[in-house]
Amino acid sequence: MGRGRLQGGQIRFSGFLAPEESFTRKTMAWFKREKKGIDEATPPEERRVRTEGLWTKCESCRTIVFRKDLEENLYVCPKCQFHFKMSAKQRLAMLLDGRWTEHDAGMMSTDPLRFVDTKPYARRIKDAQKKLGMNDAVMTAEGQLAGRPVVCCAMEFGFIGGSMGAVVGEKVTRGIEMAIETRQPLIVVSCSGGARMMEGTISLMQLAKVSAALARMDEAKVPYISVLTDPTTGGVTASFAMLGDLNIAEPGALIGFAGPRVIEQTIRQKLPEGFQRSEFLLEHGFLDAVVPRKEMKAYIANALDLLLN
Ligand SMILES: [Zn+2]
Repeated sequence: MGRGRLQGGQIRFSGFLAPEESFTRKTMAWFKREKKGIDEATPPEERRVRTEGLWTKCESCRTIVFRKDLEENLYVCPKCQFHFKMSAKQRLAMLLDGRWTEHDAGMMSTDPLRFVDTKPYARRIKDAQKKLGMNDAVMTAEGQLAGRPVVCCAMEFGFIGGSMGAVVGEKVTRGIEMAIETRQPLIVVSCSGGARMMEGTISLMQLAKVSAALARMDEAKVPYISVLTDPTTGGVTASFAMLGDLNIAEPGALIGFAGPRVIEQTIRQKLPEGFQRSEFLLEHGFLDAVVPRKEMKAYIANALDLLLN
């Protein structure tokens, strides 16, 4: 053991132990960070604490909700009734009884324009497919809604903003054709930012194609119920979302063609409170009903009975 004594805040050794210099150098590791700090080692996108699996903050009232409670409440905030977005799969599970048959699941965009914005469109599609386990922004299913056979298309907002390109247009059209052929009512749940810009004119052609198919459906007298959820905008509003025999929306959903900012800039006027929300649209005659999510299935079942008899 060496004999140490304190001198002005420093430890000095005398005797046979390690010379002062090497002692200092050895102890440096205690004070100098040799490993990377937390900030450097963790890439910025991973710095958020991962609690999404367990808790979710309500976008509207900021209450922290237990994810499982939210699920059981059909993704509606138990405190303020704010309707969270649902995935296409969750939507089908909510509306259809038990099992359903999915159609055209393998259909994929061919990226006809070889479009590149901040990243290539082909890459964007691949990323979305990997993330969501589906090939484009809509799911078509044949099943039963409260015992009534139906064809149901549900849009997936997570897939490039639920945008409508050739695949969404084609799948909805095929859904309509199947409904006509089998004489089963059609339900389309919209959730979309509009036409898919990366497919240019081809995405806009879908509006005409789907609308023409719906006109044939009308002639065939097969009912079509459109369910509009937050958000339903652009080309989807301008085509099938507003062409239902019944157009019903979830509470508080943003529904419109152009967004409020674009309209304000164009007409140079401040828009009224609640403009483009379901309740406002209902009041002004653009919708037939605003139905809370928990009542949606029963409401549609009842409406189908009225439309079919
Ligand atoms: Zn809330």
